[in-house]
Amino acid sequence: MKKSMNDRSMKKRTVWLILGGIAVIVCVLWWAYIQFWSNASEKEDVSAKREADWSFQKPKVPETKLTDQEECALCGSRKESMTGMFSGKDAIGIISVNDWYIMDLKIKSGNEKGNMPEDTEGKNTTRTTVGKNGRVLERSSESLRGISEIVVDYGEDRVLSMEKASQILCQSCLEKLSEAMEVKCEEGKEPEPVDLVLIDFETMELYCVQEQYTKKSIRDYTLWMAHTEDTLEINAVYTPVRTEAGKNAGIKENAVPSSATDDSAASLK
Ligand SMILES: [Zn+2]
Repeated sequence: MKKSMNDRSMKKRTVWLILGGIAVIVCVLWWAYIQFWSNASEKEDVSAKREADWSFQKPKVPETKLTDQEECALCGSRKESMTGMFSGKDAIGIISVNDWYIMDLKIKSGNEKGNMPEDTEGKNTTRTTVGKNGRVLERSSESLRGISEIVVDYGEDRVLSMEKASQILCQSCLEKLSEAMEVKCEEGKEPEPVDLVLIDFETMELYCVQEQYTKKSIRDYTLWMAHTEDTLEINAVYTPVRTEAGKNAGIKENAVPSSATDDSAASLK
């Protein structure tokens, strides 16, 4: 009789222990579940906030230090600016702004009509050091084919100084420069674009090369851009529209003898 009493209380205790255990497990799982979701929503909040903190901004435009617009390095005839050399030319260039250096990308060479190449050289490589801060521009152009590759090593002084620019550019060119220098920037901070900008010599318009751009089309030119921490690489190609008129400017179909196809086939053998 005593033994069965013990048995019953043992059973009771075991049931309670099991129930207690289950209750603990449920509590732990519940806690873990709450923790997981509160963490996840916190993370979402942080990333949403981060996104909101960044926006595209242009550098502030200071007042020009020039008193005469003729002294402007872009639209005037400032002695050291070299712009006059390229102005109106059917070509694209890049400007290293802080030390004001202009390089023609030499995508294609041509005479005034733009049809015939003026030189017969193949690949032409030029390396130029600009200023005292290690800025290097290297251009490898094959202007007979209409291709050019430019690699700019930024050097130490890479952030555009609008203050320096205000000493050599007129007010409207400063505005133009700022427009072409838009860059992703953290809220409350000053935008820090790299001091490089593309220029179309024919129109004298400026084009942005900041990190948000990987491709740019300027008239008959297409440029692909690759950015690293210290360099900008541009691959530029002459890509004119292939119209009937363009085709006629080359070999006239009627003038080609019918045996031409056979000849080219024969030469392949
Ligand atoms: Zn100007």
